[in-house]
Formats: sequence, structure tokens, C-alpha cells
Amino acid sequence: MDLVIKNGTVVTESASIRADVGIRGGKIVAIAEKMERGDNSIDAAGKYVFPAGVEIHTHIDAVLFGMRTVDDWYVSSVGAAFGGTTTIVDYIMQGQNQALRETINEYSERARGKSIVDYSFSPIINQFTEETYREIPVLINDGITTFKTFLYYNWKVSDYDLARVLDTVGKHGGIVGIHCETAGTIDYLINRAISEGNTGPRWHATTRPVSTEVESSSRALSVAGEIGAPLFIVHISAGPVVEELARAKARGVMAYGETMPHYLCLDSNEYLKPGYEPMKCVITPPIRSKDHQDALWAGLRSGVISTVGCDHCAFPYKDKIRLFESQGHTFNKIPHGAPGIETRIPLLFSEGVQKGKISLMKFAEVTAANPAKLTGLYPRKGTIAVGSDADITIIDPEKEVTLSQAMLHGKTDYTPFEGFKVKGYPVTTLCRGTVLVENGKLLAQSGHGEFLKREKFIPF
Ligand code: MN
Ligand code: MN
Repeated sequence: MDLVIKNGTVVTESASIRADVGIRGGKIVAIAEKMERGDNSIDAAGKYVFPAGVEIHTHIDAVLFGMRTVDDWYVSSVGAAFGGTTTIVDYIMQGQNQALRETINEYSERARGKSIVDYSFSPIINQFTEETYREIPVLINDGITTFKTFLYYNWKVSDYDLARVLDTVGKHGGIVGIHCETAGTIDYLINRAISEGNTGPRWHATTRPVSTEVESSSRALSVAGEIGAPLFIVHISAGPVVEELARAKARGVMAYGETMPHYLCLDSNEYLKPGYEPMKCVITPPIRSKDHQDALWAGLRSGVISTVGCDHCAFPYKDKIRLFESQGHTFNKIPHGAPGIETRIPLLFSEGVQKGKISLMKFAEVTAANPAKLTGLYPRKGTIAVGSDADITIIDPEKEVTLSQAMLHGKTDYTPFEGFKVKGYPVTTLCRGTVLVENGKLLAQSGHGEFLKREKFIPF
């Protein structure tokens, strides 16, 4: 045995047991009540031994709104490891006149030799050409099994291509994630607000009302149901969207949903803060009023929502301010996005498990098992089982941390969770049996991470 994790409580999506975990050759090879010490051992007494996080919603080293996110693959993956995550499936934007294969090659170059955690990519389809439709089945066979389209932004999909993409991806064994916001209504509300002199950052939220997320989610769910294709509604922010998703599932649509720590832990009072402070929460969909939080937690408990992602999109506060000030002082010029890869697991554990809103097993399910299932990585990733990769995060439930930008590893100059107190924190993180982080120290070499060839989507 190369390594034995001893005396911990091992938690997966289906069990929570006192057990030792044996690791050899980067794989989990034994789970037993008592095991001999290996060449090395880690004492996890009083701690939880979880499958390391699988994060399937990030924008790393990505160009959006004419700016490149400041966290490259090294920085993002170090943050991920400190935050208990060892797999990232990143959203990558197909360029103008670019084949999806070229996009994948371009982003692979950005990650290779840098990422300390394992990785793959979900292409954002931006060119709805015959060539793109020809590429999709080839890519799925090559292990790129997830794609994304948007119902908002310049790269949004038409209703025709939404149906065609869902059909093409679904019938070849993949799944499409969809960003749901009704473009026309939002653009009109933005223009009306600005024309009425309502130009400050707080208007970002008011011009993207819950109804626009409901309408577009409902449309996507209806189309997917008609086509018979699976779909994944990303970043659900509000209760009525959870209801739409529940109704679609009940009538047999292969629909899955994701929510995020900022929707679970923050509320729209962020937009009432003075000065430029609301810019820190200029993300889409915006953060909603507090009364939506219970529905999101209930959606996780009931299984209507399958995953918790982070939407890591590292635009510095100073750049948000700079673009606002240099482009006419209107809120629609502030780049959308906030960092979050390092805080996802601590926030969900503290606010969810410690406060009794979700169980230990549900936590393992929504941070690891389900994101791995959606992306064709389960059971290699996302669980603790004999034969799985030894991707493990050990959480000390007693460790209290006040989140702050100073203690995080990203290059942005803020976190939306500055000053947020959490109880329970990842203390040791392993990827394929290699200790990446232990007791606050980074032990991994740049480039430890490997590109993951993924399996076809299996409905669950
Ligand atoms: Mn989005
Ligand atoms: Mn996103």
C-alpha cells in the first residue's frame, strides 16, 4: 500500500462509515474497518474523508467581454486544491470561424503543464455551422461529452439551433448545459433603465428579473422534452426555476440542474451596498432576494437540483470599475463574473452540512458524484470506491476560517465572501494518490493534472 488514510469517517453519495482507505498506484484499492499502515499514512481521526470535489462550471484563462480572466490554470487549480477540488471541466468559448477541435487544442495548451488538478473541457458552441454539427459526434467519441449554449449574450443560440444542438449532442451520447436568461426582455429592460437615468451597478440585478430565468428555462426544458434529449440547466438562482425543473422531470424530461454558493449564501442586499461595491456581485443570473434560498436548499435535498458549481470567472474589481468608468458609467459595461473555485466546498459544507440543510451524503453527491456523472467521469472521479482514482479531500469539521481574499489563492482583488465565517474546511487534498495540499501547504508540482478522456452520458 502506498498510502493509507486511517481513522476517518468516509463519506460518499451512498454511505457514511468509519473506515480506512488504502491507495496504491494512484487508485483506491481497499476500504476496510482497520488496515495495516502503508508506506505512508494520514491520520484522519475526527475528520471526514470525502471524494474530492468535481467542478464543472468555470471560465479559466478565458476571454469574455473582451477581457481575459486573470486566473490561469496554475492559479485556478491551486485554489481548487486548497478548496478540496481535484477535477475541473472548464467551459471554453468557440472562436469566430474556429472549429471546436481548434478551441479544445487552444485551451489544452493553456492547461497543459500548469494545472495541478485533472481537467477536461466543455465547449461553448458559438458557430452553428454544418462543420460544427459534423464535429459534435466525433468529439463525443473522443471523450468530449458535454457542451454548452447560451440563451443570452452575443453568442446566444437561436430557437432552431437550440433544438438541433440538443438533438445532435443527445443522440450521440452527450449532454448540453444551458445558460437560461431571456435575451430580448433583459436587453429592453437594460435600455429602459439607462434611458431613465438608472445607470449604477445595482441596476444590473433589477434588469434581469427572475421571470426571465423562468421563461428561458421553461423554453429550454420544453424543447429538450420534445426532442427527447438530456439537458443541464446551469446556475439556477431562484425558486420558480426549481419548480419548472421539477415539473419537467415529473413529465419525463431528462433534465438536471445546478445551483451555486453565491445563490445559497448571499442575497440581493449585496446590490444595495454603497459606491461600487455592488459590482463585486455583477454576475449572471444576479443574486436574488433571500426568500429564494430555502427553495434552492430544498431543491438540493429533493434531488431536483443535482450539483453545486461555482462559475469561477476571475475579473478583478478594479477592472470592473475601470470598464464602468471608461465606457459611460452604465452598469451594462461591467464585466460579468466573480471568483469562487476555492470557496465552493467550504461554503457548502459550513452553510449546508453544519447548519443541517443537507446531509453529509448529499454534500458528497452534489459536489462530487453528480458532477462526475454529468460529465462522464463517474466512478473514476466523484466517489470513494475500489478502482476509483484516489481523489480525496479530508475536511476538518472543527476548523473555523474567516474567508478573505488575502487567504485565498486567486489573482482577483476580491472575493464576494469577504468576512464570511465558515466552520469546517478542507485540510488535505489528494489527486490520484498524490498529496496536493496538506495542512495549508502546497506540495504539488505545476502540471500534475492530466487531461481526462470522458465517457458518454448515462442518464441517472
Ligand atoms: Mn452563465
Ligand atoms: Mn458561467
